[in-house]
Amino acid sequence: MTSRRDFLKQSAVAGAAVALSPESVMGRNTGKNIPAAATPVDTYTVSMRSAMHIPVIQPREIIIPDTAGFQVLKGDFHVHTLFSDGQVMPVDRVKEAVQNGLDVISITDHIEYRPYFSKIGRWKLNDEQGEDFNLWYNTAKPEADKKQLLLVPGAEITKSTMPPGHFNALFTRDVNPIAAVVDDWRKMLQVAADQGCFLLWNHPGWQAPKSGGIEQGAPLRFTKEHEEVYRQGWMHGIEIFNGYEYYPIVSEWCNERDLAIFANSDIHPSELHQYGIHNPARPITLMLAKERTVESVREALFAKRTIGWAAHMLWGRDPWLPELFKASVEIKTITPGTVELTNKSSLPITVSLGGTAFNLLHNEKQQVYRAEGLRKLTVLNWMVGMNKPLEIPLDNLPG
Ligand SMILES: [Zn+2]
Ligand SMILES: [Zn+2]
Repeated sequence: MTSRRDFLKQSAVAGAAVALSPESVMGRNTGKNIPAAATPVDTYTVSMRSAMHIPVIQPREIIIPDTAGFQVLKGDFHVHTLFSDGQVMPVDRVKEAVQNGLDVISITDHIEYRPYFSKIGRWKLNDEQGEDFNLWYNTAKPEADKKQLLLVPGAEITKSTMPPGHFNALFTRDVNPIAAVVDDWRKMLQVAADQGCFLLWNHPGWQAPKSGGIEQGAPLRFTKEHEEVYRQGWMHGIEIFNGYEYYPIVSEWCNERDLAIFANSDIHPSELHQYGIHNPARPITLMLAKERTVESVREALFAKRTIGWAAHMLWGRDPWLPELFKASVEIKTITPGTVELTNKSSLPITVSLGGTAFNLLHNEKQQVYRAEGLRKLTVLNWMVGMNKPLEIPLDNLPG
């Protein structure tokens, strides 16, 4: 029987062979070419880096000022690994997230679909490991601690019919009792809710190829099953953006039902393969947290202080989106007819002051001449509702 330690070691080697996360490729030493520990992974990656003369790339820095007395943390709450149908090991997801400047991730492998590492998968685990649905979290946790990345335990409840579709259970205490009632989605959500999980409706645009519910290609709707899930207290948030998909109506659903908005990657291949190094296209969920701890992340999510960021757009609810703008953009009155705007953050901001749209680039001052009587600034790519861009009153300016 493979010991747990041997298993983890083998897993790391398998991960290196499949995964090309930035750090896997670049090696993990920033200053020297000598590996810290002589494992096969280090030998492989470091010699490859030297041979290819690849410089070490520093982690992406995402600057977001504190907002309304909170820290703004960057997260991705939907990530897959080889423990379901992803293509890298949990440890690589940690390295990728650090390289991307994130503070927190949740590895949410499918409970129902594990074609690679599992008791029945292509690479068979022993009985004990094969039936342990906490394995992805436990495998990644030591690396997350080492890299000071916050790791939220989780799993994806993956029904092949729509409704109800897929739900992420976040902050699981133990995924195994949820997996034990796999034949009944109501029971799965109930067990997860009883554990105090935050339940997220994933990619609401997903439609089952052939199920009795929503037919393929149909417009999005909040079905009676989703209404039931919501009323039972089994839905706390919805993805407005997943991977490369955008569901504008989710803004309205979240406003109407007091739910948290998310933008997640749902990443399956390596991050490098999907987005490239430091490509800002990776969806991110921002959250306004009291501290940089897992407990604070949990509190922020349940308090619905989240903002989705993807495809050069942001989606958030009042008052958190306006508060984020207030913290990120300095507005100065130069003359009664002129304002100067400076974007202190890394966030994409496209504004209009009664005229053509223009982008506010990080730390570049932009002077704008205001027409008489014009009292508001429109942030065209920050949305507080489906067809509702954020508006900032310029009341303090003499008009
Ligand atoms: Zn899914
Ligand atoms: Zn998924």
